[in-house]
Amino acid sequence: MRVTLLGTGDTTGTPTVGCDCDTCEEARDRGVERSRFSVHVENERTGESLLIDCSPDFRQQFLTHNVALPDAAIVSHIHFDHLDGLGNAYRLFDDLPVYAADEVDPVTGESVADTIRSKYDYLDRVTVEDVTPFDSVRVCGLDVTLVPVDHPPLVCYGLCVEDPETGAKLSLSGDTSYDVPADSRAALSDPDLLLADGIVPAAFCEYHPMGGKDEGPDGTPYTFGTKHMTREGALALADDLDAAETRLVHLAHYYPPEEAFAEPLAVDGETYDL
Ligand SMILES: [Zn+2]
Ligand SMILES: [Zn+2]
Ligand SMILES: [Zn+2]
Repeated sequence: MRVTLLGTGDTTGTPTVGCDCDTCEEARDRGVERSRFSVHVENERTGESLLIDCSPDFRQQFLTHNVALPDAAIVSHIHFDHLDGLGNAYRLFDDLPVYAADEVDPVTGESVADTIRSKYDYLDRVTVEDVTPFDSVRVCGLDVTLVPVDHPPLVCYGLCVEDPETGAKLSLSGDTSYDVPADSRAALSDPDLLLADGIVPAAFCEYHPMGGKDEGPDGTPYTFGTKHMTREGALALADDLDAAETRLVHLAHYYPPEEAFAEPLAVDGETYDL
């Protein structure tokens, strides 16, 4: 499978609109972007492709990167930066199946799948398919499994995508704190490529009103506030999952400029053949 990182930024992206911080300026100088989160997975055996999350930057991402429009999409959770690009389906697709979890979120009273159904009921090109977490579904010739992660207050899912022919495996953490449940870690383990939410460096926790939590052995916070992993947390998760290769994604412009473009922080347009 061929994996293209269409969007590697957090909800404001880098550069952030109206921001002249050193990191946004450095991104402009380098000509790189971190648009809102999305990943394109092409099954080269069948020629089909799967879109993971529907970025508000969908149009620009597909104009910029040399990838086919997807045959199906899967949505991790209902936050703006992962879902609101779905409106782009209008007039681009005859029918786009969108896979999402079927568990009821106690906060919204409905599942991710049901929220998408009601929010996009005007879009007859979209067909929402329910997925039960931990049950893998065959999509575009690939086995896709959603697993719960920790992104309060909403439910959110990480996922793995496995090629049943080659055994290649892509895992994504989803938007999550470091407190990923053990059974989800087991499902995500041993990927050829891990894409992990590492929104800020741990040192930035002092600027979050709730600080950090889930400290590692040396006291470094692995979670920024309650919703996302720090860089250090994402790398610790990668270690725990025994990932062969790791890219950090969902990155904010709060990384200092000398750290923001260092390995293994991803930028838009990276491709991986698994
Ligand atoms: Zn900035
Ligand atoms: Zn989110
Ligand atoms: Zn997000």
